Parts: sequence; C-alpha cells; structure tokens
Amino acid sequence: MDLPLKKTFMPEKKPIIIANWKMKLGIGESKKLALELKHGIFGKKEVVICPAFVSLVEVAQILKNNHLKLGAQDCFWEVEGAFTGEVSARHLAEIGCQYVILGHSERRQHLGETDEMVHQKVRMALSVGLTPIICVGETFEQRQEGAKDYILIQQTTKALQGAVVKQNQKVIIAYEPVWVIGSGQAVSPAEASGAHQVIWQTLFDFFPSELVKNNFSVIYGGSVDSENVSKFTGLDNCAGVLVGSASLVAKEFIEIVKNS
Ligand code: PEP
Repeated sequence: MDLPLKKTFMPEKKPIIIANWKMKLGIGESKKLALELKHGIFGKKEVVICPAFVSLVEVAQILKNNHLKLGAQDCFWEVEGAFTGEVSARHLAEIGCQYVILGHSERRQHLGETDEMVHQKVRMALSVGLTPIICVGETFEQRQEGAKDYILIQQTTKALQGAVVKQNQKVIIAYEPVWVIGSGQAVSPAEASGAHQVIWQTLFDFFPSELVKNNFSVIYGGSVDSENVSKFTGLDNCAGVLVGSASLVAKEFIEIVKNS
C-alpha cells in the first residue's frame, strides 16, 4: 500500500509542537516560562504546553483564551474514586487541558507502565474529550536485537486496539526512540521517517483509512532543537515534534516553533 504523503495526505494540518516540561520546573518557573511563550509565540501552529501537574492550574490561567494549548503529562484510567495520588482525566479537562501525554518511556521505564495501562488511559482520555499523545519507541537493546518495528507495531496496536475514536477526535502518536531522549543526539530524519511509515501502516491496519487520514497524526520526539526541527517537520509523514529539554528555555522553544 502507498503510504501517506504530507502534501496530499495532511494538507490542512498545522505543525504540532508539544513541550514536555517533565518534572523539571516548579510553579514559579512554570508561570514565568508560560508568560514568555505566550508573548513570544504567534502564528498558526498547534503549540501544546505540558507542565507538571502542580503547575497546571496556574499555567491554565496564563494560557486562557490564548492560542497556546494546555496538556498534562499523564492521567489515570478511572474517571474518579478511591485512587490515592492519581489524577482524573475529567478533572484535567475541567481545568482546561485539551491534550494528555500517555505512555511516555520514562513512565514505562520507572513506573512499570504497561501497554495495557496505556490502553486504558487512552480510552479514558478519549472518553472525556482529551487528545491523547501516545508515545511509542524502542530501547537501544530492542533496536540492537532488530526488534524496532515489532515494538512500534506492538505498542501502537495495544494502545489503540478496541479504542473508539469519534469523528471529531484527534489522536497523536509520538515516535520517541527511547535511547535518544535527553541525549542531545536525535536520530536521522530518514530513520524517523521509516519508523513513522511503520506506525502509519499499523494505524491503517486497524482503523478506517478516512479516520486515519483525518484524525491521526504521527510526530517525532527525541533531542529535537531549533537546529534540527525543520528536518523532521519537513518529512512527508511527520506532523510535528515532541520536545523535552529544549522546551525549557523560552528563546530556544520559540525558535523551535518558528523553524518548524
Ligand atoms: C521527551 O521527553 O519526550 C523528549 C523528547 O525529550 P528530549 O527532547 O529532551 O529528548
């Protein structure tokens, strides 16, 4: 099957630039950075800021009625109840989140998050109207074993199989090779493109093609900066980028958005 080309396949989609602030900024620092971004980013791109939970409400106030969108870095798979320490997707939507990062490799690695948990969280996010940003990607060992494509297919399939994606809902898949996250060394654009093909093909295997074309996006994440961003956003099958470290400095992130 011919795989999608951006020019013909995603003509109306704006580049998506997502900032993952991880657990790196306190409330004061988050407010300062949000204000700097609010005053420094203009134009038609879909820019999503994902602060830590404790800063979400304050950042939501700053971004209110702004073109910058708000996302969370995780949610729980139950909507509410006796789940001490967990965060409800419905409550995230209530404070103004429109997106949620799910299945980030740091959660899979440090918190034992499984494909099944990611799947439950995706269903929950969709059910309350949040756009899931589903992270998939191979570790260095899996890559060495030649299991990269298998991991991408497996993580994408398990996250989404059986999920109901309505006509008005969006789903973003972020290809994030685990071994380049935070390393300062991104994979080559050709390599990212190859991985994206595998993800697109997996989506076409599971969902009606019109739904995939209109509602799904595949983006790249892993040591993106203002120098390399255009190489990824210029790919035919890449709708944007997920940015960690380089999103923590206003000037650099503004430059990333400009260059994307
Ligand atoms: C991430 O944490 O999702 C990420 C892409 O980080 P970095 O940009 O620092 O590699």
